[in-house]
Amino acid sequence: MRFVEEFRDPAAAKALLAEIARVADEIGATRAKPVHIMEICGGHTHAIFRYGLDKLVHEGIEFIHGPGCPVCVLPMARVDEAVQIAEQPGVIFTSFGDAMRVPGTRKSLLQAKAEGADIRTVYSPLDALELARRHPEREVVFFGLGFETTTPSTALTIQQAAREAIGNFTIFCNHITVPPPIKVLLDDPHMVLDGFIGPGHVSMVIGTRAYDFIARDYGKPIVVAGFEPTDLLQSVLMVLSQIRDGRAEVENQYARVVPEDGNPRSIAAMDDVYEERPSFAWRGLGEIDASGLRIREKYAAYDAEAKFGIGYGGQRARDVAEPEGTACALVMTGRIKPTGCPMFGTVCNPETPMGALMVSSEGACAAYYQYGGRRSPEAAE
Ligand code: SF4
Repeated sequence: MRFVEEFRDPAAAKALLAEIARVADEIGATRAKPVHIMEICGGHTHAIFRYGLDKLVHEGIEFIHGPGCPVCVLPMARVDEAVQIAEQPGVIFTSFGDAMRVPGTRKSLLQAKAEGADIRTVYSPLDALELARRHPEREVVFFGLGFETTTPSTALTIQQAAREAIGNFTIFCNHITVPPPIKVLLDDPHMVLDGFIGPGHVSMVIGTRAYDFIARDYGKPIVVAGFEPTDLLQSVLMVLSQIRDGRAEVENQYARVVPEDGNPRSIAAMDDVYEERPSFAWRGLGEIDASGLRIREKYAAYDAEAKFGIGYGGQRARDVAEPEGTACALVMTGRIKPTGCPMFGTVCNPETPMGALMVSSEGACAAYYQYGGRRSPEAAE
C-alpha cells in the first residue's frame, strides 16, 4: 500500500534502531539512567506497543505515556452528566464508540443504554445531525469529545445545523486542548521528562508553533511525529540528536501531513464556534486553566449544557473521587506504567473496566493489555 508500506520497511527500521542505539550510547543513556521521552498522544502509545518499539529501541530509552487520550482524561462527573442527559425522555444521545464503556460513578453510557436510554454509536457528528433531521420530534445530542483533532468537525456540524436552523440538535461539549496539560506536566517537579514526541493529528490542525513554549521556556526538545513505526523511530532519533547537540527545538517529522501553521479553515471554524473556558477538570491532572472549550453564546441553541441546564461544574468535577484502588491518575500522568496498577489485568480488564484507560482505543492500559499481555513477569515492572 503506497505511503504506508514504505513507513513499515524492516530494513529502514533496523537502520534507525542502529542509529538510535549509537546516539543513545553517545549521550550515555542506560537502563539505569534512561532518557525519558513522553509520547503525548494515545495514538502513538498504541503504535509503540503495536509494533513492539518499546522492546526494540535501545534499553536507555524509556517511553513515558502522556495524557493525550481525550476519553481517558474526562472526569467521571462529565460521564455522569452525559448519562443524565441521555436518560431524559425524548433524547437520542449519540457518541463515538470509545466513550460508551467509560465508567461514571453510577453507570456508563452502555449500562444506561441497557436500561432503556436511547443511546447510539455514531462515526461522526454529522451522523448525529442526520438523526436530528430524520427525527424532528426527538432531541438529538452529540457527545463532543476530543482534542483539536475532533473539535473542527463538531464546530463545522454546529455551523451546518445553524445554517439549516435545525432546532433539535445540541452538542455536549467536552473538547479540550493539548498545550495546557503539557505545561502542567513540565511544571511538576516530580516529573522527569527529557523530550517529547508531539501529536500528529492534533498538530495537523494547530500546526507546530503551538509547542514553541516547550523548547523556548523549558529547554526541552519536541518532535511532531507520524504514526508508522519508522515515523516514531525517526522521531526518537531526532529527539536524541537534539539532546546530544544541546539543542531544544520544535521539529516536524510528520511534515508530509502537518503544516507549520496548521489548517486555517479548521482553526477558523473552531474560533467561530468555541471559546476557552476559564478552566476545565482533567482526570488525573485536576483543574487546568484555559484547557477546555465551550460553545459561544451565538450558538447557544446548539449547546446541550444550556438546553439541559447542566452547566459546567468545575468544583463538582473535582469532588467526584475515582474508584478506590485505581491508579488511573498516576498512569495518566506517566508516573507509573499500567502494569504498576494493582488492578491491571485482574479486576480491571476490557470486559470489566475500572478506568477509561482500559477501554479507550487510545488508552495506555488498553495498549498494554492488547499488545503487552496480561499481568505477567514480562509485563510487570
Ligand atoms: S488498569 Fe484500570 S484501574 Fe488501573 S490504571 Fe488502568 S484503567 Fe485505571
